[in-house]
Amino acid sequence: MHQELLRGASFWLFLFDIDKNLAQISRQTGCRCGGHLHCANYPRKPRGGPANLPEQYGCRLSFCCDRDGCRKRVTPRSVRFLGRKVYLGAVVILVAAMRQGPTPRRVRELSKLFGADRQTIARWQTFWREHFPQTACWKVGRGLLVPTVEVITLPLALLEAFLRSHDPQKDWERLLLFLSPITIAGGLKIEVRR
Ligand SMILES: [Zn+2]
Repeated sequence: MHQELLRGASFWLFLFDIDKNLAQISRQTGCRCGGHLHCANYPRKPRGGPANLPEQYGCRLSFCCDRDGCRKRVTPRSVRFLGRKVYLGAVVILVAAMRQGPTPRRVRELSKLFGADRQTIARWQTFWREHFPQTACWKVGRGLLVPTVEVITLPLALLEAFLRSHDPQKDWERLLLFLSPITIAGGLKIEVRR
């Protein structure tokens, strides 16, 4: 089961490797001004992971341009952190999904497993139902999904659309990469309808 996967350190190490690759690509691309990017990671204290969450989770990989007059910050996409949310991205997806379906898991049980309280879980449900469907990530991405995913069943339907093979880690990778545009600055901006 997915909650078992998320209790193990190896899943989180696997995701860290993907973040390292995403950061490497950003660094090689460099700053828009032509400057080089230097390491300028943010400290993080993510919640929702296992007790043995790898120490690499103490920071969000990020860069800063080295050119005087620019010094722009460049933060690559992430499969670990969902924007500014304190809880790990996979937890925000899984817990909200477990509250859906014909037999939703009890809040008390989920709180015990992942540490999030009732209000936090309710906020995540609102996020998936009302906020996420307004993002460019969803408006562009939903057309690529087979089977078609309806807003009403987010995020459970996303889990069902992506977690279909016999390799759950790889499935999570694909799902988290699909969502990764919302993990960077401006990615959660609500699109203005034209
Ligand atoms: Zn620059």
